[in-house]
Amino acid sequence: MFSTADQTLKSSLKALGKDFYIKYLQHAVFFQWSSLVGERIAEKIKPALIEHKILFVRVEDATWRTEFQFKKADILKKINDAAECNLLDDIRINNRLEIPAPPKIDEPQFLTPDEIVAQDLPNITLTEEEIAEVERNAAPIENEKLRAVMFDTSLARARLHKCRLKHGWHHCAKCELLVPPTEVLCDGCQRKELEQFRRTIGEIIQDVPWSTYAEIRNELQLRMPHMIGWCRPETVSSVRSSLVQNLARSIDTRDPSQVKRLVMIYRQVPPDQLSADAVRKTMRRLRFDLPGHADDF
Ligand SMILES: [Zn+2]
Repeated sequence: MFSTADQTLKSSLKALGKDFYIKYLQHAVFFQWSSLVGERIAEKIKPALIEHKILFVRVEDATWRTEFQFKKADILKKINDAAECNLLDDIRINNRLEIPAPPKIDEPQFLTPDEIVAQDLPNITLTEEEIAEVERNAAPIENEKLRAVMFDTSLARARLHKCRLKHGWHHCAKCELLVPPTEVLCDGCQRKELEQFRRTIGEIIQDVPWSTYAEIRNELQLRMPHMIGWCRPETVSSVRSSLVQNLARSIDTRDPSQVKRLVMIYRQVPPDQLSADAVRKTMRRLRFDLPGHADDF
């Protein structure tokens, strides 16, 4: 995954330790996917995740799922050859929960989904079976007053549910809650996905500190396509700054490889472009975040 021009980068990466080198190579699989497997395959098969030397890919097209089984060994060999080591043991189709992209709305909407539902709610009636079910659910409550309250509340909830379904609400992609037609996730799941999204950005930056915004975005597009709308330059820089602050607080300033990694993340440069001067300047700038204010810099 290195051209002859990149040989200095390769040896600087190796100098930072085997784990770091492997992580870099694994990310290169994402960054260089189309040149590794060819444009035609890259369009249909997308890398999603590497875990324990297994690359999980997304294959949307059903015919390509079969095709993939024939091409798998060849793709694996190409990647391991390019990495010049046994980088991956296997490639598998990722069968984990896939979250669809939000639907496109053609017409401008003047009412919010909630307003549409509220307007139509008075017209919604429940069938006899639906009412009977609400009754059955309230039946075990012994206290008569409480049972009546429960019955009324559940009835109102059932009508709201029915009305929402009528207007295109659907289950959140990760839980049972109903969400408006334009949403994919409920608020709670959205928040969790956003946290995961920021963690993923952090992982990419930690593993390849000099990745550009475009490279990070490309990798996120492959890994968490449903969240790509949240990817903005300021999101990435805010993840980068908190990463720098956290690392600075816990760093052992006597360990040159830890110092180098921190500086690479801060300045967004590869190890072969890291001059002693740049290291000193960066560490001086970060000195108030460092443990004991590190006077050596
Ligand atoms: Zn949810």
